[in-house]
This record gives sequence, C-alpha cells and structure tokens, in this order.
Amino acid sequence: MNNEEHKKRIQELTEILNKLNYEYYTLDKPSVSDSEYDRLMQELLRLESMFPEYAYPNSPTKRVGGKINESFNKITHELPMLSLSNVFTENDILNFDNRIRKENINPKYVCELKIDGLSVSLKYKHGELFYAATRGDGVVGEEITDNVKTIRTIPLKLDRDIDIEVRGEIYVSKKTLEELNKERVKEGLEPFKNARNLASGSIRQLDSRIAAKRKLDAFIYHLPNPLDYGINTHYEALEFMKELGFVTNSNNRLVDGVDGILNYIAEKTNERSSLPYDIDGVVIKLNSILDQMRLGSTVKYPKWATAYKFPPEEVVTKLKDIIFTVGRTGQVTPNAILEPVSVMGSTISKATLHNEDYVKEKDIRVGDYVVIIKAGDVIPRVESVKYERRSGEEIPFQMTDTCPICSSKLVKKDSSYYCVNPKCDAKHIESLIHFVSKGAMDINGFGERIVEDMYNLGFVRSIPDFYHLEKYKNEIMLLEGYGEKSVLNLLNEIEESKNNSLERLLFALGIRHVGFKTATIIARKFVTIDALMEATFDDLNSIPDIGEIIAKSVVEFFRDENNIKLIHELKDLGLNMNYLGKVLENEKIKDKSFVITGTLNIKRDELKDMIITNGGKVIESVSRKTDYLVLGENPGSKYDKARLLNIPILNEEEILDMLNANN
Ligand code: NAD
Repeated sequence: MNNEEHKKRIQELTEILNKLNYEYYTLDKPSVSDSEYDRLMQELLRLESMFPEYAYPNSPTKRVGGKINESFNKITHELPMLSLSNVFTENDILNFDNRIRKENINPKYVCELKIDGLSVSLKYKHGELFYAATRGDGVVGEEITDNVKTIRTIPLKLDRDIDIEVRGEIYVSKKTLEELNKERVKEGLEPFKNARNLASGSIRQLDSRIAAKRKLDAFIYHLPNPLDYGINTHYEALEFMKELGFVTNSNNRLVDGVDGILNYIAEKTNERSSLPYDIDGVVIKLNSILDQMRLGSTVKYPKWATAYKFPPEEVVTKLKDIIFTVGRTGQVTPNAILEPVSVMGSTISKATLHNEDYVKEKDIRVGDYVVIIKAGDVIPRVESVKYERRSGEEIPFQMTDTCPICSSKLVKKDSSYYCVNPKCDAKHIESLIHFVSKGAMDINGFGERIVEDMYNLGFVRSIPDFYHLEKYKNEIMLLEGYGEKSVLNLLNEIEESKNNSLERLLFALGIRHVGFKTATIIARKFVTIDALMEATFDDLNSIPDIGEIIAKSVVEFFRDENNIKLIHELKDLGLNMNYLGKVLENEKIKDKSFVITGTLNIKRDELKDMIITNGGKVIESVSRKTDYLVLGENPGSKYDKARLLNIPILNEEEILDMLNANN
C-alpha cells in the first residue's frame, strides 16, 4: 500500500468500526463476531501508530463505547469509565509486564475473569443506592437505577453510612440465556445472540418490569477512589467491597509475575465451559494503587491493566450429513452439514471437509459429534471427532463415485475425484465464474451469484454468451436486485474486457495446468493467438519454465474442435487476441514478500505465480521481514504469528486488486 492507500484504509476502518460500535453498544445488535471486530481494531491501531497524521479525532481507538441512548437520563461519571487494552498471546503479556517493570515497578497482579456483560457504576450516598449508570461513552453514561434495583445481589442499602462509588459487570447466566431464547423462538422472536447482548438489552430497557424478568446479576470488581478509604492495593479493595456486601468473583487471585498470570489463564481456559456465566478472557490488573497512579491511563484505557482475550471458541455439534459439491475443474469435494450451532456469535451449519483423505484420516462419520473451529472467523472447519460419544449408529464415510449434479461417473486423478462431463452444469457455472473473475478477464460487477443467476435464466450458457448479454438488458433490469445503473455498468465492463491482453484470455479459458504466470509466459512468447494455435509440443516444451505436462495440455486444448470454434467466435465478437506487452512489474508488489495462508477461491499456485510475475516473492513462513500475509479461509498458525508481528493482512480481493493495479 502507498501512503494514499493507507490513508484510505484508515478512513475505511474508522467508518466500519464506528458503525460496528453503534450496532453493538447502542442498538445491541452486533453484525460481526467480537474477534472479527478485534481484528479490525488491531489493524486500525497498527495503521494509526504508523501514520498518526491520518488518524481521525473521532477514531474508535480513542473512544470508549458508543453513542448513548437519548431516552435515558444522563450521568456524568466523576472519573471516566475506561475500556481495557487487549492482549492475545503470551508474548503480548510479557510485553505488558516488561513495560511495567521498565518503570522500576516490581509488580504483583490480580487476575480476574473477564465477565461478558456490561459495566455499571453504582453510586451510594450515606450508604443508600443513589444512582446506577452504564459506561456510555466513558464520560457520560445512561441512568439505569430502576433497572439495577431489580438485581437482587446489588445492595440497595449498605450497612455503613458511607459515600462510595463501586463499579462492576452486569451479566446473565448461560442458563437464563438458554431459557429465554427457547421462549423467544417459541414466540417467533429472534433469539439473543449471546449473554452480553441479552444483559445489555435488558438493563437498557425503559420499562424495568422487563429488566426484572431477565434475571440479571452482577459482579463488582472496581473501586475508583481506594485511597479515600485507606486502601493501597486492588486486592484489598476487592476484599473491602465484599465486606460492604457486594458480590465479588470468587476466582479473583493475587499472583506473582507473568508465570502466575499464565497459570491462571491456563486454568480458567480449562474451566471456562463449566462456568455458569460467559467469560471472554482474563483481566490482569496491577495490584499496587500507587503504582497504578504512576502509570496512569490513555484516553481509552488504563496502562496498569489489560484484558487477555480467549482465542476463537471451538464448539461441538452433530454432523447431520455429508454432501458433495463440484468445482470449476470438475473436482468433487465433501462438505459437512451440521446441527446449527453458535460459534462466536454466528450460527454455523456448514463446514468444509477438504477431501476424501481428510475425512478418512479422521474417520469422520455422519451422526458423529464433531469439534468445529472457527479460526480467524472465516469458514469453519471440522477439526476432530468426539469418538467417545459414538452410539454405533454412525455411518462411515463413502466417497461418491458420481457427479452430484449431472450423475456422470467420476474419474480419480491423484487423490482427487473429477466430473469429466464437459456438459455438467456445475462445472459450467464454475468455469463461467472463473472466466469473469479478477485474476482472469476481470469483469467487475460479476459476482458468483450474478453468474449463477444469468446461467439459470439461460442468458449465459457459454463464454461467448457474456458478450451477447446486451440483448437481455431490459429483462435483466426488471429482475429484483438489478438496478439500471448496475446493469449498464456491467455491460460496459463486459465491453471493456474485450481489450484485455492475451494472457488474461488464456488464463480465463481455463486450460488445464495454465495458471496466470504460464499464460503470461506463453502470451509473451507467441504474441498472437494464431501463432499459439499453430505451436507444436516441441515449440512449447522448449520454452524455459514450460514443462511437458503444460506443453501437452496446451496443444491438446487447441486441437479440440470445440475450443477452436470458441476462439473463432470470440475473435468475431471483437476480443483482442494479442499480447499487449504491458510491463508486468507492479510497484506495489515488486520486491515485497508475501506469505499465503488458508484456502482461497483462486488456486494458491496461481496466486503465487501472479505475485512472482509481478516482481514479488512468496515465502513459506511469517517473520518480521514479511510485508503481507494473504489470508484465506481456515488459516493456520501463520495467521496468529502475523497478527502477533503486526504484519499487514490482505484478503483475496485486496491482493487481487493490488495485482490488477498496473495491468
Ligand atoms: P472490552 O470488553 O474488551 O474490555 C473492557 C470491559 O471489560 C470493561 O468495560 C468491563 O465492562 C469488562 N470487564 C469484564 N470483567 C471485568 C473485570 N473483571 N475487570 C474489569 N473489567 C471487566 O472492552 P469494551 O470497550 O467494553 O468493548 C470492546 C470489545 O467489545 C471488543 O474487543 C469486542 O470484543 C466487543 N465489540 C464487538 C463489536 C461487534 O461488532 N461485534 C463492536 C464493538 C465492541
């Protein structure tokens, strides 16, 4: 990315995160999972630290929470209610501890569970509850006193005539969430996504009778002015609040140094699923109040505390069925259909099973209880099987031997199965999708769904049909979701694609073994398609980087009558069939190193070739020197490492955009 693009990305992330904050804090309706949110926030933090001049004053990195709901009375907090910084790895924790030690502090820490609810400030005057307020935007909160009074564990009156503010977390138990959601589903209402959502939605009800029904509870964990009560450590503050009659969490623990923190995290990670309430991490707080004061705070969080966030959750669910799908090359792959289950706030009902070997190696059977991992919040995978939960009724996996779409017999090549019927609909659609895709003819506006629609409506059944689409213009505009402007744009893009250089067309035609790099080498060598069509096996085989397999495949392709006819048709339609000799070196890619992880729509080798052809490098492992991580579905540990090292992350679309920038 150049500076202009960094600036643009910062603006984009700021807008996205502000919108997500509004959905989450104000509407209680998050549209993405928390870890997806955290990933975007980490990206913005990293970019802002690199380019502080582009950071916005209203950046979500500098603000706590979201907008407050105008229907409530407002309470200005005497001291701001801050958020917490996040750590994700052991290394982050070491860094946190190091930063504290650098200030000549020999720290003791208090470790606490990070309760997944919403924070509350409780103000008592002469021992009586005077008001309760949400965190709001950190400075001003919403007054929720009536609703808080419905929480039985929050004392309305203390034993002492004391003025005091305490803070804590309002939450609902897992059981309450389950029961309420069952009722809601029965009543045809949308279930609450998670316990935090339910707690927040309930406490911010204008009618406290509703809040009363929601069985809210609270743990108290913070005393804003401990010195006023002669208290010098956070742990003593917890004890003091307990004596006053507040419920503190029994898992709170005073520990020495990083080892103590790590042991606590390991222990609580284990116990997490058996706790009666949801937690999303562990909070680590410096124990000495004077040291806390020395370290101070940023506008968003205290420097003396941090929150370790648990990695994306894994869940167990039942595998109801295994279905097969067909890809562009005709490859048939198995997919798991699951009993719907909520992972990190989103409901999962499908997961990839990769291929026959993967299923057989793990002995995954229909009827099994399987562990699902949603790594990096992309498409989930079936990670393992709970063999101990087998009843004996499970059905062992059997790879299909016929195409699920056209029923023709599959052919096994290496360890994969292919439908070789050239007329198979599925293959057809996939090859049409490939033709217009970014790496290939790059016809903007043609997503998978649109190609499928055009195919199913009979408008596009073959490649040349794209160039006849104009005649269905009016019919398409009448379809739902297809506006006039977008249809005209699409037709324009189709027309423009006729000017593409030859290598794009060669790649788009889907000749076996011809990726983008090979297509470029061939186009550069032969310059015109006519010359290429006349090339012999030896002509091709003698080109450096073109081996026998490719040479054979290209020659066979251009001997096939159907393909010859197709080329002529496309020529007649006005498609350019010459290599335009554009310089491929791409400034954005040149000399940059890329690591690819996870499954992408484009083949990994093709992407690799495209990067290399554009002057970049593709390396296997992530290090500080890596310029970009390309992130696909089901990424491996490279993703974690890249996050840890703050390596910029690109999704498939972003890397293809980058590659397309100069060509
Ligand atoms: P946070 O949840 O990461 O941490 C701060 C909060 O932790 C505190 O305000 C307090 O409410 C809570 N907490 C729980 N137990 C605690 C304890 N023992 N001691 C101290 N505090 C404790 O920060 P945040 O600012 O409340 O929210 C940011 C997080 O919310 C994000 O990291 C993300 O997970 C989630 N979020 C998600 C979306 C979305 O769209 N999915 C949007 C906004 C925020």
